[in-house]
Amino acid sequence: MADSPQEPHDELGQVDDHEATETISTGTLPDAETIRRLLRQAHRRYAGNDDGAVADHIPALADADPGLFGISLTSIEGDVYSVGDTAHTFTIQSISKAFVFALACRELGHEPVRNTVGVNNTGLPFDSVMALELNGGHPMNPMVNAGALATSALVPGEDLEAKWNFIRDGLSRFAGRRLELDEDAWASEQAANQRNTGIARLLESHGRMDFDAADATDLFTRQCSLLVTAEDLSAMGATLSAGGVNPVTGDEVVGPEVARDTLAVLASTGMYEASGDWLFEIGLPAKSGVSGGVVTVSPGKGGLATYSAPLDDAGTSVRGQLAAGFLSARLGLNLFASRPAAQRAARGD
Ligand code: GLU
Repeated sequence: MADSPQEPHDELGQVDDHEATETISTGTLPDAETIRRLLRQAHRRYAGNDDGAVADHIPALADADPGLFGISLTSIEGDVYSVGDTAHTFTIQSISKAFVFALACRELGHEPVRNTVGVNNTGLPFDSVMALELNGGHPMNPMVNAGALATSALVPGEDLEAKWNFIRDGLSRFAGRRLELDEDAWASEQAANQRNTGIARLLESHGRMDFDAADATDLFTRQCSLLVTAEDLSAMGATLSAGGVNPVTGDEVVGPEVARDTLAVLASTGMYEASGDWLFEIGLPAKSGVSGGVVTVSPGKGGLATYSAPLDDAGTSVRGQLAAGFLSARLGLNLFASRPAAQRAARGD
């Protein structure tokens, strides 16, 4: 039975923290009207939050409007709920890593990708060179830039264009529509890409780059420059929540095992060095990107996505994480939340 949150207060979402414990992770999403109301509440609650700063290490990102804020949820039934600026396009950046990892797992299998790329957190920033050196050149996981460069290099295709077509087609299937490349963002990052170029070369020096290092950097930069909306990201997340089938298009993008593996990696590494904090507060696998997107996945329920450009120090959207925390609790998504059996029986769930 659906675990419908009680809402004792008004649309502004003035609810106390005890209420959050009313919801648990089993069951289904609440009814459509409750979802819409909670999304509106989350948006109102955090739209006025001005904390954080827009990323500027890629020049094209610095122009983002810090006021834009959108929240979208796609259920495993393919129902889409949106509030705010959910049709605004932005570059997907690091969120692409999650879906390229899934595509690589689909092609190469669980064990080879685990051995080559790894699934453990580095505890260091996403573009850390030190993490690579400290681990003998092993990238550690696919969500830091070293691991993402290694993963993109692994996908099928003889040359850069073939691999690029594979990635673009795969990510488009996750989104349910053809994703376009932001040529200006791509050129902007290519011109400021010394760090990622260095990481790719370092992987090569450790014998962990089977593809041309410069082409691997270009490939990763292109995938980061694909344009998405918050609605696209929620469909992509919903695909991972629904055993790898895009619930809007019905397309079987990856298998259920790959979706499961990808979510496990996101839980431990998706939110950079703050992945533990995220799991502790929000209790769901998620991935953020430096352009301000966050996709949060509730296995068996749906994908939640936000867009808001100002980031915290680890590189995650401030409003995005506040909204995810609020909605995880109110929608009953936290994977670790439970209730004693007697209490559940008394409530009839
Ligand atoms: N293309 C971005 C970079 O290398 C991806 C990082 C991110 O979104 O976390 O800076």
